[in-house]
Amino acid sequence: MSKVYQRVLLKISGECFSHDKLFNSVVTQIAQVAKSKTRIAVVIGGGNIIRGRTARIGCLDPTRVDSTNQIDPIAADRAGMLATIINGIKLADTLQKYSTPVEHFAAFAVGDFIQTYNNERAQESLTAGKVLVLSGGTGNPFFSTDSAAALRAVELKMDIILKGTRVGGVFSADPEKNPKARLYKRLTYKEALAKGLAVMDLTAFALCQTHRLPIIVFDITQPGAILKVIRGEKIGSYIC
Ligand code: UDP
Repeated sequence: MSKVYQRVLLKISGECFSHDKLFNSVVTQIAQVAKSKTRIAVVIGGGNIIRGRTARIGCLDPTRVDSTNQIDPIAADRAGMLATIINGIKLADTLQKYSTPVEHFAAFAVGDFIQTYNNERAQESLTAGKVLVLSGGTGNPFFSTDSAAALRAVELKMDIILKGTRVGGVFSADPEKNPKARLYKRLTYKEALAKGLAVMDLTAFALCQTHRLPIIVFDITQPGAILKVIRGEKIGSYIC
């Protein structure tokens, strides 16, 4: 079967790091892709450790509303970005144990053990067949790792963004709560926006739309799912 996508940006959420079975499956799948001719960069979430948005109100006593209970939004987002770096260290280390060539870039300087993201160096590593692990989000507060995925995908001239989730794609309602939820196999950016579907956050979505970068949302919990998507099997939801 011929491969359809040569350069892919995989976005995985922090949730992939919170269950050993899922984490191992995702690592195995990325290692499989690395053995193929497809170049892959992985943007990492940090929601398993801290998510800026919820940390502001939920991390301390949520019943107290005085200022001592508020984490500064910028501080919370900085913590969130660091969380993605922790996950990045784990992913890069595990991929190396699978004998997969890997380069970890963080969006901002964290120490000489991780390179700071630089587009030219990242392109070189990708061309050399290394898996790029991209952590630290965009390096700025008030963004998400979805925005980082869109940004890096555009910078690295990727063919597509693959958004790995726990469900089979984009649905008309939450399929984990509503058994009648309908899977959308194909959507335009406009339709996804008009229907208010939570594909990615708006900043990420706008960037994809502007640069005509398609997105496939698929169930990453299924073994071999990443390779199937890359080989053009019609799974998940395709947004373009
Ligand atoms: N974050 C940020 N800027 C970015 C990317 C992430 O401030 O460019 C922070 C933000 O607080 C976010 C957290 O890092 O909640 C973790 O990222 P995200 O919520 O996107 O992770 P995921 O939901 O994919 O696990």
